[in-house]
Amino acid sequence: MTNPLLANWTTPFGMPPFADIADADFGPAFEAGLDEARGNIARIAADPTPADFANTIAALELAEGTLDRVSGVFYNLAGADSTDAREALQRDLAPKMSAFASEVTNNKALFARVEAVWAARDLLAGQELRVLTLYRQMFVRSGALLQGDQAARLTAVKARLAVLGTAFSQNLLADEREWFTELTGDDLAGLPDFVVASALAAGAEKGVGPVVTLNRSLIVPFLQFSPRRALRRRAYEAWGLRGANGNVADNRGVAAEILALRAERAALLGYASFADYKLEPEMAKTPAAVRGLLMRVWEPAKARALADAGVLEAMLRADGLPGPLEPWDWRYYSEKRRLAEHDLDEAVLKSYLSLDAMLGAQFDCANRLFGLEFQPLNVTLYHPDARAWEVTRRGEHVAVFIGDYFARGAKRSGAWCSAMRSQRKLGGDQRPIVVNVCNFAKGDPALLSYDDARTLFHEFGHALHQMLSDVTYGFISGTSVARDFVELPSQLYEHWLEVPEVLEKHAKHWQTGSPMPADMLKRLLDAGTYDQGFATVEFLSSALVDLAFHEGAAPADPMQKQGEVLDALEMPRAIRMRHATPHFAHIFSGDGYSSGYYSYMWSEVMDADAFAAFEEAGDPFDPPTAALLEKHILSAGGSEPAEVLYTRFRGRMPGVEPLLKGRGLVEAAEGGQPPSRKRDTPGIFEDRK
Ligand SMILES: [Zn+2]
Repeated sequence: MTNPLLANWTTPFGMPPFADIADADFGPAFEAGLDEARGNIARIAADPTPADFANTIAALELAEGTLDRVSGVFYNLAGADSTDAREALQRDLAPKMSAFASEVTNNKALFARVEAVWAARDLLAGQELRVLTLYRQMFVRSGALLQGDQAARLTAVKARLAVLGTAFSQNLLADEREWFTELTGDDLAGLPDFVVASALAAGAEKGVGPVVTLNRSLIVPFLQFSPRRALRRRAYEAWGLRGANGNVADNRGVAAEILALRAERAALLGYASFADYKLEPEMAKTPAAVRGLLMRVWEPAKARALADAGVLEAMLRADGLPGPLEPWDWRYYSEKRRLAEHDLDEAVLKSYLSLDAMLGAQFDCANRLFGLEFQPLNVTLYHPDARAWEVTRRGEHVAVFIGDYFARGAKRSGAWCSAMRSQRKLGGDQRPIVVNVCNFAKGDPALLSYDDARTLFHEFGHALHQMLSDVTYGFISGTSVARDFVELPSQLYEHWLEVPEVLEKHAKHWQTGSPMPADMLKRLLDAGTYDQGFATVEFLSSALVDLAFHEGAAPADPMQKQGEVLDALEMPRAIRMRHATPHFAHIFSGDGYSSGYYSYMWSEVMDADAFAAFEEAGDPFDPPTAALLEKHILSAGGSEPAEVLYTRFRGRMPGVEPLLKGRGLVEAAEGGQPPSRKRDTPGIFEDRK
């Protein structure tokens, strides 16, 4: 029997043959992939001919073909459709993959060849010079210059960190799955139909009546609508205790060990702190630059949040309830206030935002901006809820796009974009297979909140960055860019949801097909900055705790450190961190966003400024601006440093003002001129000096 993961895929567009793949196939396929990669790398390292770009760097790019292919399938399934067998394999693979990566970067003969190519880099230019630079940086930052005991210790630290990162996510998933509370009798009071429907669907999965679970797409609307304060409190506290329940899935000790090992890793490599190490290849470059941006936004955000808290607390007291306003009260009174001030009934609004209508909107925008077309593909995927489209332009195949949108127990929480296969040209033109995964409540039809629709557009912005990628090397393909640049395409794409003509055309009532009433649309768009004090404070507090964790010595007790940071910030009492330490998967499930949670805001500085380019052109779909965006950002991957790419697109670097204005945290500029039009606006990037 041939392992289907190792066979040639003769499926349309070389899609993974999901129907033929069994969980038991992954282990042997990974072993085969690792063997193949080890053989290839040994050959490159032992090559008797003098090292050059082709026989060293380009060869390394192609050395892990099978491993890339198997990993692309496996890690997507492990996140979107986990099983016990997949979780066990993921735990088993974490140290093996980490050991393999260390083996490559610790290979002295191989590094000597990289250094030889580096010494002759004057011969190279363009993507080749860029890829070489990034490879050498990867080797050096992985410890290739370390010797003996230090090299061995670094390898051990990295292996342990890989195990801990996997444990952190699995603990979190276990806690999220375990807790639920049944809604009986009056517990359903005040909940709109769509919340009742998702409570019923979540209960049906567990074989009981309606429930509240800790899934964000259920608990957030529950907290918005349930008038039962004690019940809100119980659910909110359970949500806040994920990863901190004192059970086997407790993440507090895991977090402490991760932080200690990261500090040790940075010290071994000669950096002042893990944050200094982590920020070096980013646009921000230093912790001081990150803090500069975050603190610039913190004070206006806190002032706005405190003013809002006063209004909400008055509403609470008017209900005859004792103060003060508590964290489990904020969303409920905020929703009431929104209804009163903006007259936006989330439940009615959703009737116009069906998933299919919003998919139509996201595809239509991509068509108008970039000429992309989307045709549903009839192929077997890994789960019946997942759907696929072929993406073409002028009849040419561009990519396969997979959307997997509904929450289920086997899917980790949140929303993300990943590639089962990345674009590259080296070794044959390889077109991408791109996946968007969300956790929307399932329904018939599925109706989205406006926030869900933003998430849909956000992830699709990442997908465009992958699908439009047009580079030679996989190392710099698509979203392989600086972490604080990667959220630019995604957050930028959210702006098109706010273009009135998009919702005018696509927001149609799912039963009657009638368009969203003009006054509702206006109220929706006017409410764009509603509750941004809350949203900004919950984000910034998480980002500042992340930064504090990784600057200087590692805290022995991360929970205590978290408390100190929040006290120093004078965190408003009715708002808590968007992600508290024991469930802060962004920074603990892996290295991805460690000392990097700020990057959403860093990218927002750019997305606000980038969308202003379309506004300045007088057309949200202005073809020349869209062409520049594709050429310098969406197709360029990591082919040049992010600041170079952005400057090529916009002619300059941005300042922080469009962001403050976009969040409603400053007075609107006089005459409605966005501050971004001022070419001499002092930018946050000055802090990098
Ligand atoms: Zn994103």
